[in-house]
Amino acid sequence: MSLLKISNLQKTYPNGTHALNDVTLEIGNGMFGLLGPNGAGKSSLMRTLATLQEADSGSAFLDDINILEDPKSVRKVLGYLPQEFGVYPRITAFQLLDHLATLKGVTNGRERKELVEYLLEKVNLFNERNKNVKGFSGGMKQRIGIAQALIKSPKLIIVDEPTAGLDPGERNRFHNLLAEVGEEVIIILSTHIVEDVKELCTDMAIMNLGEIVYKGSPANALTELHGKIWRKTIQRSEKETYKQNYRVISDKMVAGLPQLHILSDTDPGNGFIQVEPGLEDVFFTKINAAVPA
Ligand code: ADP
Repeated sequence: MSLLKISNLQKTYPNGTHALNDVTLEIGNGMFGLLGPNGAGKSSLMRTLATLQEADSGSAFLDDINILEDPKSVRKVLGYLPQEFGVYPRITAFQLLDHLATLKGVTNGRERKELVEYLLEKVNLFNERNKNVKGFSGGMKQRIGIAQALIKSPKLIIVDEPTAGLDPGERNRFHNLLAEVGEEVIIILSTHIVEDVKELCTDMAIMNLGEIVYKGSPANALTELHGKIWRKTIQRSEKETYKQNYRVISDKMVAGLPQLHILSDTDPGNGFIQVEPGLEDVFFTKINAAVPA
């Protein structure tokens, strides 16, 4: 059982963007969802934990490893799947993993062959092992990405925006693979897609403008909002008026008309009906917290 302890991380880029503002989180084994809109600071946090960039202050420990001060030790127990896993064009899946395993220090040839075959089996690409990765679909490339992240039995796996560009079938297969791997290690799944977190994670945090605005289980977040979400379909021309009069947390087009979700402790009347909150309501409530009631 491992524990990742992140305390008071701060990061301001040279252009003045305050990307991490006092980020504090504790993350144990299993799948942890880090949810936030684009620009929230997720990648800044992931890159800091993956030792690809430095924080200005604060600390991060993976068990007894000081991530900020001892990046070499972290890298030995870290698997990182970046937003875009740059695959090498004209080599086979087997050759690619063999090469990456060599880079990661698996120098014994026989041991490496066994490891690569095991990984190919694990991500269900064994039958494709002699094909060029260049011709792989997005989902297959992501599975190769997971396979390389698993080399050397990591304690911590960081997956940054993994399902962008995957079709629904590929996304399901990728989710199942993550869930299976996630039982043994800490996996942080950074994403702006609410569904990814809903389906996979027992614990999560929501980030906005560099800050953690929620931490806890998806289930608790839903309970918090129970009875407070109301829905109404309106005319497009009415949108601004509604936004002035209610605490609108989302509006989306359904069959050509805006469907509002508003937050209200009491029955707002006026044709609104109460609905069960979804994780998307949690997301928008947390990131729009500054909207006046
Ligand atoms: P996310 O992954 O949630 O989309 P990022 O961590 O990529 O968020 O970005 C957080 C904020 O920091 C954004 O405003 C982004 O424009 C800014 N940012 C990210 N990287 C840099 C950088 N290298 N230099 C300056 N600003 C950056």
